[in-house]
Amino acid sequence: MNIWFATNNAHKKEELEAVLEKKLKIPSEAGINFDPEETGLTFCENALLKARELKKILGKKDEAVIADDSGLCVDALGGKPGIYSARYGSEDGKKLTSLQRNLLLLEELGDNPERSARFVCAMVLLLNDDRFFVVQETLEGEIVKNFGMSKGEGGFGYDPIFLVPRLGRTVAELSPKEKNSLSHRGKAGKHIANILKNL
Ligand code: IMP
Repeated sequence: MNIWFATNNAHKKEELEAVLEKKLKIPSEAGINFDPEETGLTFCENALLKARELKKILGKKDEAVIADDSGLCVDALGGKPGIYSARYGSEDGKKLTSLQRNLLLLEELGDNPERSARFVCAMVLLLNDDRFFVVQETLEGEIVKNFGMSKGEGGFGYDPIFLVPRLGRTVAELSPKEKNSLSHRGKAGKHIANILKNL
């Protein structure tokens, strides 16, 4: 059975392949233009929406589709940027770089002592319209006080400003293996791996 991952993010694909110990196919590799509108109001809704959309495009019965929706929820910002993490700061239409988004978030938080935050990942394994599995996991941590605190260059997105307190390191300072062992996506992926084994 082919397993597709409904993403255009090659980085996320690599992370999930390592967790599942399986090769995944992504739409861009098959020349599929995949850009569904994420209209859901929760991570779960958006993950299911992406999985259903790719399944519809593939139009084949025996193809499994995995989709995820993830983001960063900062308590002092009322859970922002949350499901809008990829689009944070882009309200006027121009898309910011990861660095610009990180700096904007640090600016919004200012010197607020409440720095708790979590990465959230909802992941769906869709076999057909009526048979699907949804899991949601988190990685708890804190937003660093300033950008220069991160020495690492690994990961992507908000990794350089997200500190894992028990390790005393940001996610950008973790090796890919370390990140997978504790991240929201890594843990969600492990649940999906177990479901796949027991199908
Ligand atoms: P998605 O591709 O719609 O799930 O968007 C997720 C967005 O949340 C990404 O573009 C990142 O900005 C952020 N994000 C999700 N997971 C991570 C992570 O592991 N590290 C850093 N940023 C993340």
